[in-house]
Amino acid sequence: MDEILPEQRRAKIVEWLQEEQSLTIDQLARHFEVSAMTIHRDLDLLVKEGRARKVRGGAMPAADALPAPGSDQSQCAMCGKRVPRRTTWVVTGENGEQQQACCPHCGFLMHSHATGQQSTLAADFLYGQMVNAHQATFVVGSEVTLCCVPGVLCFASRSDAERFQRGFGGKLLDFAGAMVAMTTAHHGH
Ligand SMILES: [Zn+2]
Ligand SMILES: [Zn+2]
Repeated sequence: MDEILPEQRRAKIVEWLQEEQSLTIDQLARHFEVSAMTIHRDLDLLVKEGRARKVRGGAMPAADALPAPGSDQSQCAMCGKRVPRRTTWVVTGENGEQQQACCPHCGFLMHSHATGQQSTLAADFLYGQMVNAHQATFVVGSEVTLCCVPGVLCFASRSDAERFQRGFGGKLLDFAGAMVAMTTAHHGH
């Protein structure tokens, strides 16, 4: 690898950290063909500038450089589980604050606790795009359980939901219906 300026190397470290989420001092030193000492100094500087975090034997991106909502790194506000991309549920409050749930199951429970919500988006189970949960169709308690039980899956199109339900069972419900089903199911425990 050609000699690069320390500042270029640090920029590349930041980029690479964003891709990998964590790297060891060893990996970095080998990649840039510099000593571990040099990498330590680079990281110290990056930490001071808020561009990276140092962890035992390596580094991670700065907290605000973590992946955006909907990625595998986010956690459910109800149960703390990682949020799978296919079942993501995002609520934006009046103050613009976002909360995520691992799946519509937790999403509905979160909804029943919260007040003054602005918008609720849920990932379409088949295609993954985020859709307005209030207009979506839900299949509750089908044979397909990806996350929490009873499983709740979100479909942007009612006919997709119907076809899915014919194959895998469960109940076909709109937002309000699924909400009732979920809150009563939860109280049944
Ligand atoms: Zn959850
Ligand atoms: Zn879940």
